[in-house]
Amino acid sequence: MLGISGMAAMTIISPSAFARSEVEVRGVSLHEVGGKTRVVFDLSGPVQHSIFTLSHPDRVVIDFDNARAAGALSVRPTPLVADIRHAVRDRSDLRVVLDLKADADASSFLVHPGQGARHYQVVVDLASVSVGQPEPVITAAQAQPQRALRDVVVCIDPGHGGKDPGAIGKRGTYEKTVVLDMAHRLHRLINKEPGMSAFMTRTGDYFVTLRGRLVKARQRRADLFVSIHADASPYRYPKGSTVYVLSEHGASSEAARLLAERQNSVDRVAGVNLSNKDNLVASVLVDLAQSATREASFTLGDTLKGSIDRVIRMHSNTVERAAFVVLKSPDIPSALIETAFISNPAEERLLRTPRFRSEMAGALLGGIKDYFAHHAPPGTVLAERGRVLSEFS
Ligand SMILES: [Zn+2]
Repeated sequence: MLGISGMAAMTIISPSAFARSEVEVRGVSLHEVGGKTRVVFDLSGPVQHSIFTLSHPDRVVIDFDNARAAGALSVRPTPLVADIRHAVRDRSDLRVVLDLKADADASSFLVHPGQGARHYQVVVDLASVSVGQPEPVITAAQAQPQRALRDVVVCIDPGHGGKDPGAIGKRGTYEKTVVLDMAHRLHRLINKEPGMSAFMTRTGDYFVTLRGRLVKARQRRADLFVSIHADASPYRYPKGSTVYVLSEHGASSEAARLLAERQNSVDRVAGVNLSNKDNLVASVLVDLAQSATREASFTLGDTLKGSIDRVIRMHSNTVERAAFVVLKSPDIPSALIETAFISNPAEERLLRTPRFRSEMAGALLGGIKDYFAHHAPPGTVLAERGRVLSEFS
């Protein structure tokens, strides 16, 4: 049984141990986007922080561990935020208080350099919870984007690794080796694209658990997850490429598990802030967000299939559904590609050629770009470009 109180504090735990040295909060800025307020703290390094809300009067409190303010933090008042105050707490911590003009939901996350920012940032999103209140009037000056647009982030997942070689071809070709090479090629291609950046769940020949791959995607706030594999069959004849997305059953059981675990992790599942929702409401919200993710995954699968089809014949002409663990992120559109059959002698030969691996990487990039052309998340360079293009067309 999960007890979620009305005022739940959440602590964001970083994967790695934080450096002991003090982090400086160098500045703060406020951005009004679509009726929401985004508060961005610029930091000298990664920081552990926690956030909670208080009412009468309405406030948001952000505690930064082992941190100090580099100077006086100040903001210009907005329709939601009246003022900002800060003080040293427990001698080495920094407490920042945002005084609000109305009750608001608050959520936060840490941005790493390269994820659309040049340095570490803690981003706090505030959404007014009062119902039926008119949208705050945003003046032209406030609407001018000081907001930094970020890159879309693609998590590339080369299958297997280390003690797990994956499938092995007749000529001794290891799946883990050829998929890693394709992943490196795709990684380079994506990072050359304006508005896009990529990272890999493994960059060498070592073992990463399936769950660990999901955690990496989540921690780095991937917008998309693409897992690369090579297929195998007990028979030599099957050939071609297959694209998989998560089956419905796999999705719902994973949501239940994540819901159960949420108090141990970030209080956010599938983009839904669960900190002040009861269990029933939370599970309904997660369900909704998840079916949207499933739909997006299917779209991604479709654009990938369309692009791969130009490089190699598809083994299956539809996007297949399966309950692969690595596809189970409830809030990250995900697809798994069996690039070719390593058990088919002709395709094993193909997989061994740098040319094919390069063409496959190009095809995956093409499918990913096709997807983002219509589905880039708001606040990204690609979404903004799409918006500007459609406004002027
Ligand atoms: Zn595999």
